[in-house]
Amino acid sequence: MAEANGSAPAANGRAYPFIDHTFDVVVVGAGGAGLRAALGASQGGLKTACITKVFPTRSHTVAAQGGISAALGNMGEDDWRFHMYDTVKGSDWLGDQDAIEYLVRHAPAAVYELEHFGVPFSRTEAGKIYQRPFGGMTTHYGKGIAQRTCAAADRTGHAILHTLYGQSLRHSCEFFIEYFAIDLIMEDGACRGVVALCLDDGTIHRFRAAKTILATGGYGRAYFSATSAHTCTGDGGGMVLRAGLPLQDMEFVQFHPTGIYGAGCLITEGARGEGGYLTNSAGERFMERYAPSAKDLASRDVVSRAMTMEIREGRGVGKNKDHIFLHLDHLDPALLAERLPGISESAKIFAGVDLTKEPIPVLPTVHYNMGGIPTNYHGEVLTKVGGDPDTVVPGLMAVGEAACVSVHGANRLGSNSLTDLVVFGRAAALRALETVKPGEKQAEFAKDAGDAALARFDRLRYASGPTPTAALRLNMQKVMQSNCAVFRTGEVLDEGHDLIHKVWKSADDVGVSDRSLIWNSDLIETLEFENLIVQAVATMDSAQRRQESRGAHAREDFPNRDDVNWMKHSLAFVDAEAKTVTLDDRPVHTYTMSNDIAYIEPKARVY
Ligand SMILES: Cc1cc2nc3c(=O)[nH]c(=O)nc-3n(C[C@H](O)[C@H](O)[C@H](O)COP(=O)(O)OP(=O)(O)OC[C@H]3O[C@@H](n4cnc5c(N)ncnc54)[C@H](O)[C@@H]3O)c2cc1C
Repeated sequence: MAEANGSAPAANGRAYPFIDHTFDVVVVGAGGAGLRAALGASQGGLKTACITKVFPTRSHTVAAQGGISAALGNMGEDDWRFHMYDTVKGSDWLGDQDAIEYLVRHAPAAVYELEHFGVPFSRTEAGKIYQRPFGGMTTHYGKGIAQRTCAAADRTGHAILHTLYGQSLRHSCEFFIEYFAIDLIMEDGACRGVVALCLDDGTIHRFRAAKTILATGGYGRAYFSATSAHTCTGDGGGMVLRAGLPLQDMEFVQFHPTGIYGAGCLITEGARGEGGYLTNSAGERFMERYAPSAKDLASRDVVSRAMTMEIREGRGVGKNKDHIFLHLDHLDPALLAERLPGISESAKIFAGVDLTKEPIPVLPTVHYNMGGIPTNYHGEVLTKVGGDPDTVVPGLMAVGEAACVSVHGANRLGSNSLTDLVVFGRAAALRALETVKPGEKQAEFAKDAGDAALARFDRLRYASGPTPTAALRLNMQKVMQSNCAVFRTGEVLDEGHDLIHKVWKSADDVGVSDRSLIWNSDLIETLEFENLIVQAVATMDSAQRRQESRGAHAREDFPNRDDVNWMKHSLAFVDAEAKTVTLDDRPVHTYTMSNDIAYIEPKARVY
């Protein structure tokens, strides 16, 4: 049972009594990754808590549609080695090949496990799990097309998340729902737990755990336009940076060309597949200039870059000339109703547009963060100490989009993220079971444990500067969208560096108007902004430093991949007090997990 332990004076003398809890394992996050880790740990007999700021089934995983990749071979020949080759190539040789081998070898078992847990996968005539083709997924090392993506209609994430939540409850995982984790509790370089705020009664909780597993998702909301939920604010990454630990490969941000302007909701590539096209303010079909043969169906990064060039050169549409039109209004309404019913609905709800009559306002939209908290394939968080780039941080683990294990390297293949969630969620639970004895006695917290978190919390709660959080956040999002998106040059990034550091400095002027502790969205958004801004600067500065084009990081001034100088992970350490960023790097793991497959050598890129 929880017990109040008296009071801990905050920086300005106000007291917030702690409610203390002790668990073997505390998982922060209840998306696909967090739930799989929590389920595994509790199933194995560890006393496990799962803390989540939203109700578990509202985590962003619920929005995943396309599916989860695994070489089951249900719809034709397949092999985990083919999946491995595609993933290494997709990563543009930045992925760690031992981790990629772990991912693809364990993927089939992870999918069958989901099936047995109760995920209602779509079926083939023969009753097997249905699998669809996806971009970059091949057989025989690039020769054939693989059908590797297992789907539950177009609601795969929804099905997985609901099933995992049910299973975690069955195994007595204890949920702390609508609790916001503020910061890690670190002692002598080890993680001892986490401080969290209960959103509906304002109580502050200290969770002590032998292992703390961060599964807090991506930080898409550092950008103006993102397909991810508003809750994707990378809180785990912010906590890790404040703990003096690095984030890895932050410059690799995946964009999708057609997110709805403002709302960011995804308009599938299928819209252009059915004959849709893009226009600028002159009504010109500009893709003909950038990609004369593929035009509007050129690859995602090419289309996104062309759209950004048009906007940068003043040919965007709308009042602020800051977006592009996607036309479907020339197509037969019967075809739209039959093939794109979901899109018709999204355009109506989120852009107020009847797409049979008007164009949809769209913008290249952040879709996925390849970068995150560096880990090994057991989910253990790594830092670089002295000459050792793979130093394990005791007590701390990370999984899912928050982590960078690095299986996606410089570019993630579609449907590989859901696989990443369940394979490494499971791996983290297994590692916790290997290293923690159920009920093992834990040392008492140091006297000041959690005080730094409270001091920061208190400072923000009473912040009385002239600038509201919403204004700071918008400034950050606009800078990231214009200076660290798909069009990158030294000049654009240098300017972006100055602008984003200016926003960071201006955050000292933040003002929070609501002082309460009950459902204070102003305060929570400010805590989230503090997490986003440190990751925004880490992203910008890492992008500025990397002088090559690799995967999602495409620089006009360095158009080629440079394996001699840049086949290495970027590390960014951020000092939030001094407002400085220190960049470093880590070698890519150019070895595999077993001898069953050889290291896959770099090859030239073909666009
Ligand atoms: C629209 C869309 C479609 C996609 N489709 C696919 C697809 O078809 N296939 C595929 O493989 N990938 C897809 N992806 C990518 C994939 O869905 C995500 O990468 C993945 O779901 C992330 O899962 P996660 O468990 O890491 O985090 P999330 O699902 O984002 O969950 C994060 C969890 O952390 C909790 N949390 C965060 N901060 C705090 C805090 N401070 N305190 C307490 N709790 C906190 C949240 O409450 C939440 O429970 C898609 C992504 C999007 C946005």
